[in-house]
Amino acid sequence: MIFDKTQVKARSEQLALSLTRRLGAAQVVTDRDILESYAKDESSCEPCCPDVAIRARSLEDIVATLEEALQLGVPVTARAGGTGKAGGAIPIYGGCVLDVSRMKQVLEIDKTDLVAVVEPGVVTGELHAQVEAMGLFYSPDPNSLETCCIGGNVAHNAGGPRAFKYGCTRENVLGLEAVLMGGAVHQVGKRTIKGVAGYDLTALLVGSEGTLALTSKAVLRLRRKPEALTTLLARFSDEASATQTVARTIEAGLVPRVLEFMDATVVETLRQAGAGSVPEDTSALLLCEFDGPTESAVEADALRFADICEEQAALDVLAARHVGERNALWAARRDMSNAIKKRAAFKVAEDIVVPRSKAPAMLEGMRRIGERHKTLVAAYGHAGDGNYHVNVLWDDPQYDPHPAVDDLIRLVLSLGGTITGEHGIGVAKRRYLPWEKSEAHLALQRGLKSQFDPAGLLNPGKIF
Ligand SMILES: Cc1cc2nc3c(=O)[nH]c(=O)nc-3n(C[C@H](O)[C@H](O)[C@H](O)COP(=O)(O)OP(=O)(O)OC[C@H]3O[C@@H](n4cnc5c(N)ncnc54)[C@H](O)[C@@H]3O)c2cc1C
Repeated sequence: MIFDKTQVKARSEQLALSLTRRLGAAQVVTDRDILESYAKDESSCEPCCPDVAIRARSLEDIVATLEEALQLGVPVTARAGGTGKAGGAIPIYGGCVLDVSRMKQVLEIDKTDLVAVVEPGVVTGELHAQVEAMGLFYSPDPNSLETCCIGGNVAHNAGGPRAFKYGCTRENVLGLEAVLMGGAVHQVGKRTIKGVAGYDLTALLVGSEGTLALTSKAVLRLRRKPEALTTLLARFSDEASATQTVARTIEAGLVPRVLEFMDATVVETLRQAGAGSVPEDTSALLLCEFDGPTESAVEADALRFADICEEQAALDVLAARHVGERNALWAARRDMSNAIKKRAAFKVAEDIVVPRSKAPAMLEGMRRIGERHKTLVAAYGHAGDGNYHVNVLWDDPQYDPHPAVDDLIRLVLSLGGTITGEHGIGVAKRRYLPWEKSEAHLALQRGLKSQFDPAGLLNPGKIF
């Protein structure tokens, strides 16, 4: 559905008036300067300013907003931490942004049921700290965890380095409180580990990018905090040895919680930025972490991994068991995003996934695409999951990166992969979804959308 922005603006003014009456002026933002802060996220998608923003503090605020918005025909886009990389939180037709970042309460942490019940504005890293202080563990760890929120993580099915062992957000959400456009509240899913009563709407809502329902509460799965942890950094003189090491590690039955890869261009970029002190002879890095209940179990896995690295001619393998040493080994991975930003004036970042066995073909094909389109291409990411962040980098303002990105997407699909592993479709990847999914399949998905949101007012213009 396409909306007329002038009409949306007029209806949004009505919405602002009616919600000021219902919620009070403090929660209704119409000041243009403040509204500008809701116009973009961490993607490179074109910003778009909403006409009104509602700062929700409770379920009742969300319900009131969705009731009034449906009556007036105003599009609503949810926003949590605003760190999304696909433009999901950008209100591309204007209308209303529903900001849930003030709904920050951890309502319950249950050590027996191993669940946490949280509001959508809880910052992921703050939840980690809170449960870890109680000897518990919430595993999803997007690298943006200091600023992203559970509401956004649920909407994007956020992953992170630890997803290889513990799964993405979907595997760690048991249930949701979901509010439909119009204000109907549904308790979806369960707070038990098992439960198969009816269709699994929780799994559907996780990853639905705020297009089906608003999350007002999430029941999250917790675990015991692993007692032992070892971090290893392996250096290789070529990428193939590193990807072979990933394959052999998995074939050996090892399950590291983290298995992160950095390619030759990333390593060179780190070196140029003076980040992570990477020696000259390095062309690829693997960062690996094992956790478990005992030091001895973790130590045995770490030794086995080091042996595999040696068999694949690693230059060396450094191990860390204490916080300071661990931070030193993580430095390269942490510095990388900033180093890549400095490497070129412009970049497009894709978060593609290929079957793990196809990683060497993906890296080789990616290099050829870079040569053919005369651009620098750098890849890093969650090698255990086959999920790579591929960055196309260039300096010339006249350069058009789209042909290179199109070729990259064709390569990924030809290898049996998928166009996004964690960042979602949003606006940024809408063009490529029909390349991956058939028209019949997309019609089925659109049918689901219209069942949940017949008026098409919830985060319109996203995904399809
Ligand atoms: C430096 C950096 C590192 C990153 N690393 C990772 C990573 O390792 N793994 C990963 O998966 N992602 C990563 N991301 C992307 C991003 O952080 C995630 O997609 C994150 O889950 C977005 O959360 P947010 O709270 O910022 O959501 P927002 O950007 O605010 O919103 C994202 C989407 O969620 C919807 N939404 C928000 N709240 C709700 C709600 N209550 N109900 C319904 N829909 C809602 C929005 O409408 C939008 O479509 C990274 C981003 C940055 C900038």
